[in-house]
Amino acid sequence: MGRDPRHDILFEPVQIGPKTLRNRFYQVPHCTGFGVEKPWSQAAHRAVKAEGGWAAVCTEYCTVSIDADETPFISARMWDDHDLAHLALVPEAAHRHGSLAGIELSHSGAHGENCETRLPPPAPSQIASDFSNITPKRMEKWDIDRIVSDWVTAAVRSRDAGFDIVYVYGGHSYLLGQMLSPFYNQRDDEYGGSLANRARMWIETLAAVRDAVGSDCAIACRVAISAVGGAGIDLAEGLEFVRLADHLVDLWDVHIGSIEEWSKDSGPSRFFAEGWQLEWTGKVREATAKPIVGVGRLTTPDRMAEIVESGVWDLIGAARPNIADPWIPRKIDEGRIGDIRECIGCNMCISKGDNRRHIACTQNATAGEEHRRGWHPERFERAANADSEVLVVGAGPAGMECAIVLGRRGMRRVRLVDAAEEVGGITRWIPRLPGLAEWGRLREWRVGQLAQLPNVEIETGMRMDADAVRAAGAGIVVVATGAPWAADGLNGVTRGPVPGADASLAHILTPEQVMLAGKRPPGQRIVVYDCEGYFMGAGMAELLHGEGHSVELVTSCEKVASFCDETLEGPLLRRHLHDLGVAMRGECAVSAIEPGGVRGETTLGDAFEIECDAVVLVTQRVSDERLFLDLRGAGLSAVYRVGDCVAPRLLADAIWDGHRLAREIDAPEPAMPLAHHRERPAQSLSPA
Ligand code: ADP
Ligand code: SF4
Repeated sequence: MGRDPRHDILFEPVQIGPKTLRNRFYQVPHCTGFGVEKPWSQAAHRAVKAEGGWAAVCTEYCTVSIDADETPFISARMWDDHDLAHLALVPEAAHRHGSLAGIELSHSGAHGENCETRLPPPAPSQIASDFSNITPKRMEKWDIDRIVSDWVTAAVRSRDAGFDIVYVYGGHSYLLGQMLSPFYNQRDDEYGGSLANRARMWIETLAAVRDAVGSDCAIACRVAISAVGGAGIDLAEGLEFVRLADHLVDLWDVHIGSIEEWSKDSGPSRFFAEGWQLEWTGKVREATAKPIVGVGRLTTPDRMAEIVESGVWDLIGAARPNIADPWIPRKIDEGRIGDIRECIGCNMCISKGDNRRHIACTQNATAGEEHRRGWHPERFERAANADSEVLVVGAGPAGMECAIVLGRRGMRRVRLVDAAEEVGGITRWIPRLPGLAEWGRLREWRVGQLAQLPNVEIETGMRMDADAVRAAGAGIVVVATGAPWAADGLNGVTRGPVPGADASLAHILTPEQVMLAGKRPPGQRIVVYDCEGYFMGAGMAELLHGEGHSVELVTSCEKVASFCDETLEGPLLRRHLHDLGVAMRGECAVSAIEPGGVRGETTLGDAFEIECDAVVLVTQRVSDERLFLDLRGAGLSAVYRVGDCVAPRLLADAIWDGHRLAREIDAPEPAMPLAHHRERPAQSLSPA
């Protein structure tokens, strides 16, 4: 198989200032949780993308001044030579694979909490941040000059560290974008008022950085070309800014919206289609002939080629698509389109990288593990015990992932068995929840990969008990039997089942009963009781509302779908449910289900009662560990379990677990992970 000629255009080189990109694939800046604190993880994560064919790889947000300390979030800094030494690992890694390295030099302005340095964040005007609710310091002229000068110092250090592309970043309503926007900038001096005044600090910074490093590095400028909420500039001003600054810029990196409305730029697939930002970012060509890069969760090469051919962008930018598959360019080049592990748009990478401080991905178990566990997304070593036969019971996401990795590690025979008629476990039916169709890629990609592995056999419609497993005679057994939702309302709030909750009754339902068994509520009025705060409660509510029921979504969490705030889905999802007419209540614990209704207590101790005909229980899941315990009880030795049957987890973590066991199936004790490399200050400049 070779490259489809329709995709040739994606492999043309592009000149940006003094540098040449080898093709049109560009990894835009994205967060990882690594910053300068985990420099080896940072470099290894970017290296694998460079190796996968991306012509440029960029760091995340890298602050230029000490009053832009983003803690409690972890971001990079270029404050001193120590930071330089840590970040220098990125260009070193990129260059090894023929890619350019970019650094996202920036300043968060009003939004930075500065928990570490305890300095007040500087901003155009003294109005509390719409993102962090901090009230900033209004910048004096002295602050403006100091920050421009810090930018130059950081740019020089970046050049010395080996970076090829230096950003003067004002996207996502960071400081320079705040100066540009009347929403933040209400100054009445020469930096406020007219567009030329509001653009002044940005243009001064661009000019100073260009003077200092412009002959050695390409100067990139990231700008939110249009607000999609209230916090930016409109498209006409965005284009005017591009015209004003064009002579100072080698590469325009364009997106939409502010940091508070990041959910619309880094849009979850439940609300935004691939490439939706082009409505605005596709207009930038009107204002510049310089190279343009944009993003849009693009994973389909035909669409990428169309965009370049149409002339609107020169480069295909990506963050999430290359977290999910760092090797997209290579796979397109080799004509292996079906092997692309497409991003599902779940934004777990954002939750993991920002809130949980170490990036991970639902689709790609190796994301974030490149350095600390040495996992490569495309390379697998033959297992020392490859002559063994492995039986994997349960073909959900964890079992499928485990079987793929075992297959790639060359095990003599891998049998993947499932009781259901189709493989996929929960990933068979989660994509049928409203808005989650793209999550079907989890199953589709794995089915496609399994089909290519001659040493993996799939058997469906076969429920196995301990005797059947023993009779199968495999030397190694992996149990991946999952975790159904509790049928009795077991929950962490009351620490027990909910009295009256029994899913064998007609008016009590679990998600599996609704989705797999076709069970439906016996009446019109439904309460969905959710103690998880993730997608299932909201999914049940929307689905049943769509079937004509009147639904009230009651959650023990502070607000509906509270975890979805970390994936940028929360505010949009609550608005969506509200607009549909789904009633919602937060901070409510159900204490009993009785004929005709539920009753309980709010967090503040007020009693409540809701009349209803049926209740859907989304309280928690319970691991199906019966088979595993029976096998252990029967004295079988090489028996392991992975995924939700160990403990109910995020899809990303269940898949990771299946991957992990298979990577370490020949370790002395596969049940426990091998120690991973931890990056600690004393050893941070040595590889392990
Ligand atoms: P995970 O997320 O951990 O992969 P899932 O719940 O998605 O878990 O998948 C578990 C799969 O295991 C389901 O497809 C289920 O049909 C299958 N399964 C559970 N028990 C057995 C069993 N005893 N024999 C065969 N398959 C089983
Ligand atoms: Fe895409 Fe989800 Fe992976 Fe992020 S975590 S890259 S959104 S699949």
